[in-house]
Amino acid sequence: MNEPSPTNGMKIAPREPLIAGGALRIGTALGIPIRVHFTFLLLVLWFGTMSSGSREGFLGGVMFILLLFGCVVLHELGHAAMAKRYGVQTREIVLYPIGGVARLDRMPSGKAELLIALAGPLVNLVLAGMLFGVLLLRQVQIPVSAEQLLGGDASVLWQLLMANLTLFFFNLIPAFPMDGGRVLRAMLSLSIGQEKGTRIAAWVGQGMAVVFAILAIYPPPMRPVLLFIAFFVFLGAGQEAAFERGRSAVAGLTAKDAMVTRFDTLAPQDQIGRAADLLVASHQQDFPVVDAWGRIAGVLARGSLLAALASGGRETAVLEVMDREPRVVPPELPLELVFRYLQSRPPAPVLVASDQGLVGMVTLDNLGELISISHSLKKS
Ligand code: ZN
Repeated sequence: MNEPSPTNGMKIAPREPLIAGGALRIGTALGIPIRVHFTFLLLVLWFGTMSSGSREGFLGGVMFILLLFGCVVLHELGHAAMAKRYGVQTREIVLYPIGGVARLDRMPSGKAELLIALAGPLVNLVLAGMLFGVLLLRQVQIPVSAEQLLGGDASVLWQLLMANLTLFFFNLIPAFPMDGGRVLRAMLSLSIGQEKGTRIAAWVGQGMAVVFAILAIYPPPMRPVLLFIAFFVFLGAGQEAAFERGRSAVAGLTAKDAMVTRFDTLAPQDQIGRAADLLVASHQQDFPVVDAWGRIAGVLARGSLLAALASGGRETAVLEVMDREPRVVPPELPLELVFRYLQSRPPAPVLVASDQGLVGMVTLDNLGELISISHSLKKS
């Protein structure tokens, strides 16, 4: 079963810089770039130091974390592979200390969301089963007490098995941004609709966050990791609810409904000083670059403009600093998909083009404006 490509055949440029958003690209799997956030490296060091005492302890700790990280990558690839079955591309996989994130181009709803969310934890269950099989074959003595397990007596394989089981159960906690939050939302959506389903799932998530926070503080001593998770879950639920409000506000609209049509464009040979003057003189933040034949050559976003001014001065040519692979969509593209593209990093506007060339531009600012207008209209 394959859903149509969201881009209607238009090219959405894949950008794969070595470092993006504080995350280093370490490889590619299934054609998806895999990145490690710098805080993850801190975790590796911390874990190594925790299990040290001896040099072997440090290396063992680091090795365990690296193997665990392999399991997390496989978990994310599980999501990505299932997403692909529904025609959804995965832009990147990023590893953070609290887990991995597979950034999908869009999240389909209903059954597809349910299966994509379940695919990750199921990978960990399968891994745990395989590790158990290996341990049985090797007739490794299974540790009997928690002390033995935590004391480092247990084999790395056994620790990995437990870690995978933990990943399985932890991810199925019904709270955003955990997979269980999506599973819950998808199941609710299938019966009571996406908007109501998300709202209830977000409430459940925030309720769980409060429970986590209480458990982290009482009984003492304080458990900082649990507090950290509570914080993330609370934020995640809020974000998901906000996103859903945005999504339902734009439902049924297209790129054409939200685009601005009055804006200045630059020519590739213009100096960026001209863009700087326009930035000061108007509200416009991002500038489409159009060549002498009226073709879209690129886009100069506010961030790149300011960076170029600081490093090269006003005489630098727009051509040298513009983004040559802007996101271009047709006017009929559902606004929901435009919304997804706008949320990607680094922030950049989406250009709207018809057969006649550039017809408009959608930025997060004017989309936000549209969403707040539609909310006021609903209230009145
Ligand atoms: Zn997951």
